[in-house]
Amino acid sequence: MSSVTHLLPEQRLNLVAESNLPTEFGDFRLLVFHWEDDAAHPELSRQHLALVRGDISDKDDVPVRIHSECLTGEVFGSLKCDCRGQLVAAQEWIAANNYGIILYLRQEGRGIGLANKIKAYALQEQGADTIEANLKLHLPVDARQYDVAAAILRYLHVFSIKLLTNNPEKMQRIQELGITIKERIPTIVAANRFSLDYLRVKQSRLQHHIPNEALTVRDPNTNKP
Ligand SMILES: [Zn+2]
Repeated sequence: MSSVTHLLPEQRLNLVAESNLPTEFGDFRLLVFHWEDDAAHPELSRQHLALVRGDISDKDDVPVRIHSECLTGEVFGSLKCDCRGQLVAAQEWIAANNYGIILYLRQEGRGIGLANKIKAYALQEQGADTIEANLKLHLPVDARQYDVAAAILRYLHVFSIKLLTNNPEKMQRIQELGITIKERIPTIVAANRFSLDYLRVKQSRLQHHIPNEALTVRDPNTNKP
């Protein structure tokens, strides 16, 4: 039996490093946390990040993006998903508004890990959609957990937020963990011909708030229809 199941959230979370981080979007402070979690997929990192801009402690309605890692999109510029576009949009929004937080959670592939995500991509090449592919692999459609996000926000003395998201389930789960969401700020990324089916599934079957105009296919280089 796992020993960590008896730990309180604040006992599972440790700040292990922090430093300033100048970025192309502006200046941030990067905090690295370790989160004890025996239940997470063994391939996933236990180190989660908070990218903070401005003085956010004890403020109300702090803008927050809770973002799950997507190596293929964020490092290699994969066009199969909108993860990188959402991360960039959030970082730009927070820089422009001069304060806020990006929580970067190491939940690659909606929590199933990189290798399983690529196996699911291979099944999608044979016609499965993102949900069917996970089910064929006997994996959950969405294995993401947000308890670490709530624990980091509490650590930072942030209790009420504006959440940058299109995902109503994420909003509900964050609120169930005791964080008040005052407002939703949409993060709209236009579809390209590789991401269109994925975004349609997110809109129709996962009930994400994606406006129909975002589902007009655009050239990823020119952003024109
Ligand atoms: Zn992605």
